[in-house]
Amino acid sequence: MSSPSPSFAVLHLFSTGSYSRKQGLLQVGILSLQRGQSVLKEWFINPEVEFGRSAYQQSKISKEQAKNAETWAEQKEEIQAYLSTFTHVFYFQERHEQAWLKYHVVAHMDHPPVLADLALLSSYFLPHLNLMEMADLVALSSAAQKKPASLPMHGALAALHDQLFRLIEVLLQNISSTPENEPGQPTLFMQLLSQVLALGSLHTASAWRALLLATESVEALESPNMAWLTPPATVETPVLPFHLRGLFTQWLPTVPEAPSVKPRPDILPPNNKNIQDALQAWYHRYDLPERYPQMQYSLFCNKAIAGKGTFAAEAGTGTGKTMGYLIAAAELLRLNPGRKVVVATATKNLQEQIVQGEIPRLRFKEGLHAHLRPAIVKGKNNYLCLSALLNIYDELVVQGKGYIKEGLSWLYLVMRVYYTQGEIEEIPQNIRAVLPDTSRLLAEANAQEVCVPQLCHEPAKCTYARHMELAYAADIIVTNHHKLLQFPPKLTELIKHCIIDEADQFPDNARHALSIGFSLNMLEARLLRPLLGTNMRKGFLDVVGDRVLKGFETETALLVMDEIDSIYRDCQTVKESSDRLQALPIPNGEQRWQEDVSFEERGRWVTRNYSADIEQTLQELRTAIQFVAGKLERIHKLLKKPDDKTYGRLETYREKAAEFADTLQKITSDFPSRKWIHVLEKGSQYWSVSKVPYYLQFEMETLQQAYPSLLFTSATLYVASSTQYFRNQLGRTEPFDQEIRQLSPFNYEQQEQVQAVVPAFIPCFDYKMPPAEKQAWNQIAMETLLKCIVALNGRTLVLFTSRRDMDAAYSWLHSRLPAYDIELLRQEGTSLWEIRRFRQEEHSVLLGLDRMWSGVDFPGVTLSQVIVFRLPNPSISNPLVAHRKEVEGGMFWGKFYYPASQHKLRQGFGRLVRREKDKGAFVILDSRVVHSSTMNHFRTELPVEITSFDTENELQNWLLQDLLPTLKLYSEWERRAISLNPSVEP
Ligand code: SF4
Repeated sequence: MSSPSPSFAVLHLFSTGSYSRKQGLLQVGILSLQRGQSVLKEWFINPEVEFGRSAYQQSKISKEQAKNAETWAEQKEEIQAYLSTFTHVFYFQERHEQAWLKYHVVAHMDHPPVLADLALLSSYFLPHLNLMEMADLVALSSAAQKKPASLPMHGALAALHDQLFRLIEVLLQNISSTPENEPGQPTLFMQLLSQVLALGSLHTASAWRALLLATESVEALESPNMAWLTPPATVETPVLPFHLRGLFTQWLPTVPEAPSVKPRPDILPPNNKNIQDALQAWYHRYDLPERYPQMQYSLFCNKAIAGKGTFAAEAGTGTGKTMGYLIAAAELLRLNPGRKVVVATATKNLQEQIVQGEIPRLRFKEGLHAHLRPAIVKGKNNYLCLSALLNIYDELVVQGKGYIKEGLSWLYLVMRVYYTQGEIEEIPQNIRAVLPDTSRLLAEANAQEVCVPQLCHEPAKCTYARHMELAYAADIIVTNHHKLLQFPPKLTELIKHCIIDEADQFPDNARHALSIGFSLNMLEARLLRPLLGTNMRKGFLDVVGDRVLKGFETETALLVMDEIDSIYRDCQTVKESSDRLQALPIPNGEQRWQEDVSFEERGRWVTRNYSADIEQTLQELRTAIQFVAGKLERIHKLLKKPDDKTYGRLETYREKAAEFADTLQKITSDFPSRKWIHVLEKGSQYWSVSKVPYYLQFEMETLQQAYPSLLFTSATLYVASSTQYFRNQLGRTEPFDQEIRQLSPFNYEQQEQVQAVVPAFIPCFDYKMPPAEKQAWNQIAMETLLKCIVALNGRTLVLFTSRRDMDAAYSWLHSRLPAYDIELLRQEGTSLWEIRRFRQEEHSVLLGLDRMWSGVDFPGVTLSQVIVFRLPNPSISNPLVAHRKEVEGGMFWGKFYYPASQHKLRQGFGRLVRREKDKGAFVILDSRVVHSSTMNHFRTELPVEITSFDTENELQNWLLQDLLPTLKLYSEWERRAISLNPSVEP
């Protein structure tokens, strides 16, 4: 049966909101894709529901236009009939529009086209572009500025036309043509796909279809009627093709020549004039006004970077901290060629901002610092090991069973190497969702986990090694806190100047970097599964067995097979011990540590306690893993071929097994201990144990010795006008050699930039209050929260200290906010999508935890209100906090507990004003800040006075008569014509 010739179109919907009650469709656009004669058809739809103003503004469709249009029911047939004329339809839509597409537009069509998610396809084939949504395409599109006159198209499709065409062309041309039809060399994509799809005996012509199906639904690949996907009975034995091997070299960035200049032993320190001139040149270049606070801060940084000792500098929001220290570092490097400066940050965001934003701005052509050579170095576990990828290919294709999903995952990782220089951070969620094997392959090809340099197949092309080479050749190295503590001594020796930015997070990050951990999931992913295999993939032990039976004389083969059998039995014991551990109850204050520090949240348990059962089972587990390591070593000796890659892998797994056993020994050897915090964590899907150092003095001394000039800097380093709390966290008893506090240049109070208030009529919260009282507290807190959000029409970040509170607020608001057309978002993991959505959708509210207190920026009107749901007191259930309480005794409260909460409140406050013109409200829903004598220390930490309201009326008057006019939102409020005393029932 001949299939219809392919015809492609792009579909765009404009619908509103993610709420079922308010959801409606305003427009459907279908762009048929034909070179030179693309045709757009579009339909306006009467949504039959009332939308907020913003929906019409964003869609650029007038209310009248929508009102006069026919309804969806009236136009549905015509639209569906037109859609049926295409074989493939691409879409690139937000979540709620995808649901519309699937459940209202395509559902029940007799001949629906294959739907292809462009976001997913571009994530897969063009991972470096990081296209998560329409807005990214718009930003990429050159057509966004000039709409082609020949195409009378509307809105997003017009702006995206060229970009979509380019993207789809790349995908189609590279995938759908067969090598036979290509004149000359097949394309790179084709080469890759043909190899990978050969696993399933697919003809390459089917690749496109397979891929589309894979991206739409991986399950479709396994559908029984897809005969062409059935693996062949026998698999040929391809070798890794030359062009595929070649791919591994193509990512390599050029390493600039290392400077021939040897740094002079004594420093030529930049003087104040050098720094002032450099800053002036920069202001001039970018037409910026002079900033006195930045100048002061930069002069101090110069003193620190070019001097000797340990320095601390706080630079409040708006100072221009990053450029302040970069200018000082750049001047030092200009006057002292051959020297190196390292900048360590807590977040990837800041690293990228420095390397892709700030340093390129410093290197303008005619400027003083045009020749700065930056490099970014991440932890080894951020890179893929090419040697391991080759091994996996070998198992997948040569030895494997031809499982296409794994093949596609493998191909995706190869493409990431090609496009992103081997980094594996942030595999997008859409890829993880359709190709879950990717996470597993990632664990098996993680450079940190699998690197055995003496057995490496590709040392010259190693991604990690190449990044380190770049670091050796650079003069300014940007890294993270973890990695700084793990720099090879050879590199550390070359660096004399160290800047630690976001330093308030350094003590916790340092502890994390120095901790030792073991988890059953790691054991499974990195040892058991590769050795034993899965239903779909042969295990390494089987691979060794096959090779031995084919290639060795009988006696050796028998000995090896005996060892392999024995390893299978040991692995069984390992599994049984693992199952036992997973089933054992988590101890709660039973053993040695008397405190009740276990806590449970969303099925996750954390404790610092061990029980005798747990200790004994860990011991059994360790012994069984040691046996596995010993037997792998014996096989290795019997085979005596250390240079062959199969036998190289034997060594890798032996080392891994030995390392697991050793880690377990180290973790369990000294429990309990003042020096270490032991942490057990258990969830339905994982079990882990770790040991975190409590004291950091030794590491700090090592750091100070390694870097004669060490500068700690951050936007929030002081608590109660002192760096004492920060020093306590570092374990540093003496003061810093010099310190400076450069306050934010924003005059919060004078310009009414921020108003901080407490609804003091909410009763004081008490963890021990009876359930009925707690419920009453909750009701009044939620109603107040709703009022504040509704008054500002969204534009609110709500900060929580516990996920349980956040989830409860989410459920409460979820049924109420749709009535106001305010979108509700909640932090989930890294929450990249939610953060972007909050920036984009002004009328939205974001509920956030931990990282939202300090690690995100929302400049502009989209964030006009920060609400602190409960004062951020440290949780005594947190293992570090509980340990501190025990070790520090009576000192704990003044030395750590209160300062930690004050510090966090300042961080939360800092979210509100990111730019000079930002204004907003800081609302603390926890009335203990005014009523409790033990909690009013919080008040001193904010740069503005807190106003308290004793009645709901006072709060309401302030919202409507003071805040909204100040924020210039009162006329919007009047237009909305709603009440602040609505029925709060859903
Ligand atoms: S040096 Fe190590 S991480 Fe790099 S490719 Fe070789 S084995 Fe992998």
